[in-house]
Amino acid sequence: PSFKELRLHPALLQSLQELKYRSPTPIQESAIPLLLQYKDVAGQAETGSGKTAAFGLPLLQSIDPALQQVQALVIVPTRELAVQVRQELKLYGKHIQGLKISAFYGGHAFSQERASLAHPPQILVGTPGRLTDHLNRKTLDLHNTAHLVLDEADKLLEMGFEEELDQVIHALPTQRQTVLFSATMPDNVKRLIANSLKDPHFVKA
Ligand code: AMP
Repeated sequence: PSFKELRLHPALLQSLQELKYRSPTPIQESAIPLLLQYKDVAGQAETGSGKTAAFGLPLLQSIDPALQQVQALVIVPTRELAVQVRQELKLYGKHIQGLKISAFYGGHAFSQERASLAHPPQILVGTPGRLTDHLNRKTLDLHNTAHLVLDEADKLLEMGFEEELDQVIHALPTQRQTVLFSATMPDNVKRLIANSLKDPHFVKA
């Protein structure tokens, strides 16, 4: 199918056309329809599979750009990935008026991140340590965050972020959509899926 047949919004189709993406990758083809139906999805996919667009396009379609609230949270293991995912989502969301996407990560000025929350982004991409810093200092409100993405979950756990993930997940509404992507599916990732996703659909690149 084409991106259009996946029922993506015209504003997103326009960006994809400008980026010269001709057709969805296999992981996009299987994940996007499920995510647009608000299902929880656990995906096994490596970098290069197009996984960022697979979770990013439905996120961009699900948020309300008229509301200045953190509606979607993307947790990634490293600052490099935080910057990269934000940049990629910004490209896809180029034609969405009022859209703000921020990246919070260790090494970035905390005071600047806190100040930016006067006008919260609809989508926040962050590393676990920095996100728990904000929660502990009560600078970040996740009560309206109905979409959670755990990207590179195997790496998040390998890097020892289990406690931080727990804390952030507990700050989110229980009524939410959760998406997890991981290159591998070891037992600790399976446990995370069982503990944080509801009736997950499994997809594979
Ligand atoms: P990712 O697996 O998310 O790291 O994406 C790998 C690269 O593929 C990124 O640089 C994207 O810009 C690109 N990409 C993602 N989806 C598509 C697509 N459907 N067609 C062409 N390129 C794509």
